[in-house]
Amino acid sequence: MVKSEKWLRNVLIETAYLREGTFTSGSQTKLIDVQIKDGVVAQIKEYQPEQFYESEIDGKGRLLLPTLKEMHCHLDKSKLGVPWRPVTPAQNIVERFTSEVAELDALDLSIEARAKNLINLELAHGVTFFRSHIDVHPAVGQRYLEGVQRAIASYDERFDYELIAFPQHGLLRSNAYNEVDTALKNGATLIGGVDPYSLDGDVEKSLNQTFELAVKHHVPIDIHVHDRGEAGRATFKTLLDYTKQSNWQGQVFVSHAFGLNDFLGEERADVFAQLAKERIGIISSVPINGAVPPLKELQQAGVKVALGCDNIYDSWSPYGTGSVVEKLNRYGEVFNLKTQEELTESLGLLTGGTKTLSTEEDGLWLKTGDVASFLLTEASCAAEFVARQTPVETSFYRGQVAFNS
Ligand SMILES: [Zn+2]
Repeated sequence: MVKSEKWLRNVLIETAYLREGTFTSGSQTKLIDVQIKDGVVAQIKEYQPEQFYESEIDGKGRLLLPTLKEMHCHLDKSKLGVPWRPVTPAQNIVERFTSEVAELDALDLSIEARAKNLINLELAHGVTFFRSHIDVHPAVGQRYLEGVQRAIASYDERFDYELIAFPQHGLLRSNAYNEVDTALKNGATLIGGVDPYSLDGDVEKSLNQTFELAVKHHVPIDIHVHDRGEAGRATFKTLLDYTKQSNWQGQVFVSHAFGLNDFLGEERADVFAQLAKERIGIISSVPINGAVPPLKELQQAGVKVALGCDNIYDSWSPYGTGSVVEKLNRYGEVFNLKTQEELTESLGLLTGGTKTLSTEEDGLWLKTGDVASFLLTEASCAAEFVARQTPVETSFYRGQVAFNS
């Protein structure tokens, strides 16, 4: 049964790199019409100005790109919508997360409303997938999870999402095992964690419990690791051991991962190769204050990398625009991406790997059968979108409009 059928007409896609001798000077493009049926691309034709269809949307010649994934946010922590207030002082992470609970409870706006403000902000930047950590521990129980679930339910399937049961106050330190277990029965689809070495004080026991819950509920793991030096190294080695023992390949992610900077020489090459082999993903918000992990080197070693905004006007940070493209743009500056190929293919860091062009293969995107989740922007190519951060005009999620400017 055909549920929905429409044409998105007069949109631009990239077809190949433009060469001037050995220099890649841009991207070759063409205008196309795309037929969308039941949320997937059914037909792709050259743009035909004289043709008209019963149900059609005019793309006005704008560039068509895959929609973006926000791989690290905290929908429960957003303060968007409440009057400006700078971050209150805190001596350390424990003081910060302890005061955060009372701070959020005192706000005049519900968690649903604050979470929706953050979702709307990110939708406007071309996101149609959210991976959000949600605090789950004895100080808040399940109420943040329930609040965010109510917010998401109000959207009537305009995006995909994953919710991580996140023991912000420490799995061991706050005795959060049972609350995390409950959250994984109540709709959380990943298990999180934070610094098992320094916060929980027992990397072995903390990761043991984390993997026990992951295996019990058949869910992936995405754990915050800020620890550096010996603490960071011990955490990565233990994490690799547990991933192997539990056969959890491709199901483990480390957010932040600052400590990867502290592996040197042969050990560095060995650990990066093991991360690639066990398919452990690294997720970064690309901090500019010195601790960003060697993301480009990790990719060259075959490690999967993805980006996320993390803090956006919450108890931890007054910053954040809610644009993952801003993070990719920062990645480009930090790692000195300047060529057409580097900029174009960096888009994969925001799309779960989908690229519009590749040096290895032509006609990568778009194809019939692809999910009809894409955005329109006033740019000539993906590289310009990344470097110039051109605004998103419209986005589609499985064929339905998810955002319109
Ligand atoms: Zn985080």
